[in-house]
Amino acid sequence: MVASAAMRLSFPEPSIALLTLDLPGKGANVLSQRVLEELAGHLDTLESRQDLAGLVIGSGKPGQFIAGADLREFLASMGTPNMESFTFEMCRRGQRLFARLSQVPFVTVAAIDGICVGGGAELASWCDRRVMASGPRTQFGFPEVKLGLYPGWGGTARAPRIVGLSGSIEMIAGGESIGAAEALKMGWASDVVASDNLLPAAFRLIQLERASGQYLRDRVATSGPIKMSETELSFLGITASAFVQQQSKGAYPAPVAALEQILAGSRVSSEEACVQEAKGMARLFGTPINQALLNIFFLTDRNKKDLGIDLSAPVSNATVPDIRTLSVLGAGIMGAGIAAAHLKRELPTWMSDTNPEALERGCRNVLDEVAFQKETKRKDVDQAIRLAAKFQGTTHLELLAKSDLVIEAVVENEQVKRQVYSTIEPYLGEQTILASNTSTIPISRLAIGLKNPQQFCGIHFFNPVRKMKLVEVIRGEHTSDTCVAAAVKYTKAIGKMPVVVKDGPGFLVNRLLLPYMDEAAKLLEEGVSIEALDKAAKAFGMPMGPIELYDMVGLDTAVFAGKVLCDAFPDRFSGSPIVPALVAAGRLGCKNGIGFYSYRNKKQRREPDPGIAGLLTPFVKQTPSNKAGGGMKKEALTERLFLPMVTEASRVLQERLVRDPRDVDLGLIFGIGFPPFRGGLLFWADTLGAAKLVEMLKPYAHLGPRYQPNELFLDLARTGKKFYECYGSAAG
Ligand code: NAD
Repeated sequence: MVASAAMRLSFPEPSIALLTLDLPGKGANVLSQRVLEELAGHLDTLESRQDLAGLVIGSGKPGQFIAGADLREFLASMGTPNMESFTFEMCRRGQRLFARLSQVPFVTVAAIDGICVGGGAELASWCDRRVMASGPRTQFGFPEVKLGLYPGWGGTARAPRIVGLSGSIEMIAGGESIGAAEALKMGWASDVVASDNLLPAAFRLIQLERASGQYLRDRVATSGPIKMSETELSFLGITASAFVQQQSKGAYPAPVAALEQILAGSRVSSEEACVQEAKGMARLFGTPINQALLNIFFLTDRNKKDLGIDLSAPVSNATVPDIRTLSVLGAGIMGAGIAAAHLKRELPTWMSDTNPEALERGCRNVLDEVAFQKETKRKDVDQAIRLAAKFQGTTHLELLAKSDLVIEAVVENEQVKRQVYSTIEPYLGEQTILASNTSTIPISRLAIGLKNPQQFCGIHFFNPVRKMKLVEVIRGEHTSDTCVAAAVKYTKAIGKMPVVVKDGPGFLVNRLLLPYMDEAAKLLEEGVSIEALDKAAKAFGMPMGPIELYDMVGLDTAVFAGKVLCDAFPDRFSGSPIVPALVAAGRLGCKNGIGFYSYRNKKQRREPDPGIAGLLTPFVKQTPSNKAGGGMKKEALTERLFLPMVTEASRVLQERLVRDPRDVDLGLIFGIGFPPFRGGLLFWADTLGAAKLVEMLKPYAHLGPRYQPNELFLDLARTGKKFYECYGSAAG
């Protein structure tokens, strides 16, 4: 056996070579330049062997084939002189290397067990055949569009030659991965077998291919253009283009570029298609959108590794308790959502409520929710029945003492919450963690009177719990490191993305949402139309405009939450009288069918409401700026809406509310849908630069402190440093 750093070469049978990829010390196999060089070296050795029947490429990491190209290398190459030609060459080198897998004088087979995406899927597509392990961990796909790119190592040329044009377009332009069964159906996989049978199946396949010679005929067929009439091609182009435009929403160029490349590449030889692909990839690589989306990749990657506490804390992942049993107090919207998220892991769950009817309704909602199948979007009743055995609704608090974690999600009232704690605390075990899902009440205030405040924290889920990945873990004054780390570990275990935030009004996400929402209402007072505001925010990339968001959150809730924050930061936010006036007029938003917009039509779709103008008029200020406000340009509206968010974020950083500036971006992208193609609020601010932003703020300074940069902001402007560089946690 020849040993090497990232790959092991062995010969399980005299005529079969096995290359096992296993990057030492790494959790995942990624294709760095060094790994590619190693592969080239092995191919050099094997190519000359006339006695070989085949080569199998496998992985030494269970559940992991290849996670893709090394993105840190990508990042490091940003800003290289002559980026376009650098990228073109990088792609061509990869393509030429992988192409050797379909030219060597023996059969090549990728034996895939686990994740096989991006560059890994490209390597596998250049092999003559692929065998895959059955089971949910095998995932095959091309997620490059999610980074603002498309496959650049021959994926756009190979895929349509293996599984046809429409399947490739859907996979490459859509960016979603498929499982082994789907891969078999599409023609990616020749065989799907149990994981422990993967290598024997690959060896068998080699013998079959050698006997039939089919792989040689396929090599010839896949090197030429794809056989398809012009009419078929143009029909496919039109339908696929509609699908892709809808996916890319006009803001993401990569899916469109992928579609165009797959179609253009289908008319020429595979080699020519690769050259075109490399040229196109060079145009996408390093663009602002690519950089922003790469940033999000690294934000989420960092989050996965972050324990939620400083590395100097005497707590390690091994010593952080696992949460297995959960009790939820309050069976309302949030309580039921949280209970269901836990129960889906097939672990014991209890839920209680003082109101028996609410409890019954909540229990039904929990079972309904656990029956929901993400993949099929259908309900699996058998699953609900099976999980019901592990779930209990109760009004007996002593049952709750059995659980590792108790999450309180009762009404947003400080007295009620405190009362609940004093009733339940005597029943709780020494190690049990008590957490509140409050959205506005400071955790340290709720902790007053608790005997064990170090075991108490905030775990703030967002609504709807199933869809929203973000969770804020709030560290109160007395919360222990172990408690924070356990909450972080737990929320990750149920598939969420926790951001640890220091206690404070509105915590992180709602505090940063306030400037945006409050400014929108103020702009209405300046005569800007509802439609102009929503349009400007959506043009910036927000999933919905601020006025639409008011309706969705509920105007009564917005008044309540807004008051907490306005009271906390009176120098910056005053709260517009418009929203309370609408509530007084019985307009609560989507929930009762009428808010700023009307939803009182058959499909409950949003539509302009002629009645709103009369309600707004008394609040529109008759000032000289009124006229200007009414006709304000989209760019000015964007500045008015988003600059106060940046100044507030800078205050958040100065207060060290989050452990790393990147948490601000993670929170806003996954909490309010801040446009991913901008990379996050602070990433966006950093691309403009603090000095430029200070200049942009100047014309608005008369509007008050919300448009005035704080010390940290001015310091960054002076030194030229980035928000991302102002401080950081060890997980960075
Ligand atoms: P909800 O009104 O739907 O449910 C609250 C439930 O608590 C009701 O069923 C009520 O009967 C029950 N309850 C009241 N007093 C109780 C007591 N003493 N003991 C046990 N149960 C009691 O409210 P919700 O929207 O689920 O909100 C719950 C908590 O989650 C609040 O703190 C809220 O701020 C927070 N939150 C809500 C949202 C949201 O969008 N709804 C989002 C994030 C956080």
